[in-house]
Amino acid sequence: MKAVYLKAPNDICIKQIDKPVYQEGYALVKVKSMGICGSDIGAFRGVNKMVSYPRVIGHELAGVVEEIGENPNNIKPGDRVVIDPYLWCGHCYSCQMGRTNACESMRCLGVHTDGGMTEYMRHPAHQLVPLSDSIPWELAPLSEPLTISMHGVHRSKLAAGEHMAIFGAGAIGLLAALGAIAYGAVPILIDPVKERLDYARKLGVKHTVCIPGEDAVEKIYEMTNGRMAEVVMEASGANAAIRSCFDVVSYVGRIVLTGWPKMPTELPTDLITKKELDVLGGRNSKGEFQEALSLMESGRVDVRGVLSKVITIDEVPAAVRELSDFPGRYLKIVALTD
Ligand SMILES: [Zn+2]
Ligand SMILES: [Zn+2]
Repeated sequence: MKAVYLKAPNDICIKQIDKPVYQEGYALVKVKSMGICGSDIGAFRGVNKMVSYPRVIGHELAGVVEEIGENPNNIKPGDRVVIDPYLWCGHCYSCQMGRTNACESMRCLGVHTDGGMTEYMRHPAHQLVPLSDSIPWELAPLSEPLTISMHGVHRSKLAAGEHMAIFGAGAIGLLAALGAIAYGAVPILIDPVKERLDYARKLGVKHTVCIPGEDAVEKIYEMTNGRMAEVVMEASGANAAIRSCFDVVSYVGRIVLTGWPKMPTELPTDLITKKELDVLGGRNSKGEFQEALSLMESGRVDVRGVLSKVITIDEVPAAVRELSDFPGRYLKIVALTD
């Protein structure tokens, strides 16, 4: 079968590998669609220290079950499913606390272990999520980045009526903004790329700030009538954006850090004390797949706006190279196996 294969950094191709065989406790899934994620691009470039090579990439996946045994969701062969791609150990402190998304031995598909940009994959049966017939294959993989965004939203305890300033108008930031709107909150998207913000406005995000031309503190002061943002989500991983979270957050506000910076950030911890802030991490997702799929199915979050292009699995290596050279060209590309 075909697999999108990273031999080493900057060396990607379609490789023929053996089709996996069914094993008890697992499901054999015929993969139908796969999203290309920023982390796949990081793996391609060799900038993600957690990735080892060679590696089959891909963790935003949907497909049809071929073989499965007993499982908690009562999924049967022939059912449509989405893959929950974060493999956790079940023994560490995080897992014992029920926070398996931050497992100390976390293995994410396509990062720590082979991913699912293949025609067939074997995956733990309890980590499949039923997918309704009303969600087309090309949209189903978008549920995964939506879970990341919603996890950030939940970590921050965002409430209706509150402002959520979001740094980064890529797929995660934009989906968080759409999720915030679905829950009655007011997102403020901040990004250096004007076209991305113009596009977000078309999707219904009313408040945007284009930095550095516009002053985020000044604009958010006006947008919030002087309170500043009760919640700030960092979804860019840029050090300057992480630092700015502390300036645009309100007193007694919450900051959730979802982006992965390459370098440490110097922080004004006096502001954490002075404003009595809650500073939170947001990693992967836990229990948000059902929610993401129902937000998509009901149309409360229209993920079509985040899908830029649909391609075939054979075109993935070229698309990964293109995204690596021109990261701002597309929001999300999804590939279909047939
Ligand atoms: Zn992803
Ligand atoms: Zn664990």
